[in-house]
Amino acid sequence: MTTVPKKTTIIERPPIVVVMGHIDHGKSTLLDYIRKTKIVDDEAGGITQHVSAYETIYEGSADHKKRRVTFLDTPGHEAFQTLRSRGAKVADVAILVVSADDGVKRQTVEALSVIREQNIPFVVAINKIDKPNANIDKTKISLAENDVYVEGYGGTVSCVPISAKTGEGVQELLDVVFLSTDLQELTGDTNTPAKGVVIESKLDPRIGISATLIVKDGTLKAGQFVAAGGCIAPVRIVQNDLGQKVTEATFSTPITIVGWNELVAAGAEFNTFNTKEEALNFAKTYKTDFIPYVKPESAVEAEIPAVTFIVKADTLGSVEAINYEIGKLGNERIRPRIIYSGVGAIGEGDVKAANVNKKAFILGFNTKADNAAKILAERDSISVEIFSIIYKLTERIEQILVEQTPKMMVDEITGSARILRTFSRQGDKQIIGGKVDEGAISVGETVKIIRREAEIGLGRVKGM
Ligand code: GDP
Repeated sequence: MTTVPKKTTIIERPPIVVVMGHIDHGKSTLLDYIRKTKIVDDEAGGITQHVSAYETIYEGSADHKKRRVTFLDTPGHEAFQTLRSRGAKVADVAILVVSADDGVKRQTVEALSVIREQNIPFVVAINKIDKPNANIDKTKISLAENDVYVEGYGGTVSCVPISAKTGEGVQELLDVVFLSTDLQELTGDTNTPAKGVVIESKLDPRIGISATLIVKDGTLKAGQFVAAGGCIAPVRIVQNDLGQKVTEATFSTPITIVGWNELVAAGAEFNTFNTKEEALNFAKTYKTDFIPYVKPESAVEAEIPAVTFIVKADTLGSVEAINYEIGKLGNERIRPRIIYSGVGAIGEGDVKAANVNKKAFILGFNTKADNAAKILAERDSISVEIFSIIYKLTERIEQILVEQTPKMMVDEITGSARILRTFSRQGDKQIIGGKVDEGAISVGETVKIIRREAEIGLGRVKGM
């Protein structure tokens, strides 16, 4: 009797690599370089748009083995800290890009703390080595100052000098990245319903709500339903990272699904079901584990006068980023308070809400106000401002906070006198005789009468 070996459905899973680092240190250039070289190999046409996640084929220079790999970009702006930590959550390895002419910067440190929190292996790419002022040694020292000890500098962290612009060192960098992921022996099961993570979600007035997902395990098929973060979508309109229609996707593949009932929070985990009922039931059980859009006030905060804001933006990611930034503003005398924030255009409802909430300021980011809202805002004197750069928006909030800070009364003592005698009182006037101890007393000034450190009277000098 012969036994036919059962075909296993558990196979090697392509690694997911997240690229992190300070803004302008070259993350996008590196990702575009890798994508372009590979795309030119097997796809016609160039890339016009930078995407947040893509899949490519990489050939190791040592073993000439062709591997599928997925790269994830993380927004560099410091406001996107929450998204960065979600990018790291889904990744198997991180590339930390540090510019050789700039060294470790604030977002490098932030990226490092995310990498350490998520406990993912990482490789340092010292970028821009083609620049005349590039200093690899200095960059390594600045890394050591931040507890990243690379090889040759007291540690074992792999570090590859590269130029994302010319491509120098990029192959070597990828070789090192794959050494790390090969060691992890990543696997996935093709025969199980797909599971994974939402990378971003967008509202497009023409096509509706779409979300980019990364499958971490299983296979997603047309006709199924996905549920994530309390929302659902039919697996009907599915595109790969090149915008091509697909009917099936398996692990590590980034795909975009159109037709969600609501915007999904980036970082939400998704599950797949064969029927809509199952997906809906699952969605109902969803409990948010994300930072709420409106942070509840603490008792201490409630004591501080607040300036109220309503925030509308193009994507959930932007909304979160703005809320995160606003959360950092304020001081012990004034603070910003977001009544609510959301995705989409500024409508009449927002203006009405602003009106009943202490004339809240409405701030839009990469969105617009509809006509009815504009007319109502004009009539009710509600401020509506639109921004396309986050730091401009936060600068404006800072300015509003300064303008709205309550003025403090400060007593400036110009002189003091000891009262020697009091004379007749007429109505609210009284004549007092005394001797000036310090400074000067002049007509028109306010006086406080103090006895044994307690204020017992207040008046004004009418004449002398
Ligand atoms: P990101 O914010 O980290 O995504 O940075 P970008 O990829 O947008 O790069 C910021 C700037 O640095 C751009 O003007 C790039 O052309 C430039 N840049 C990126 N990598 C290199 C490099 O290796 N060499 C040089 N000379 N310039 C680079």
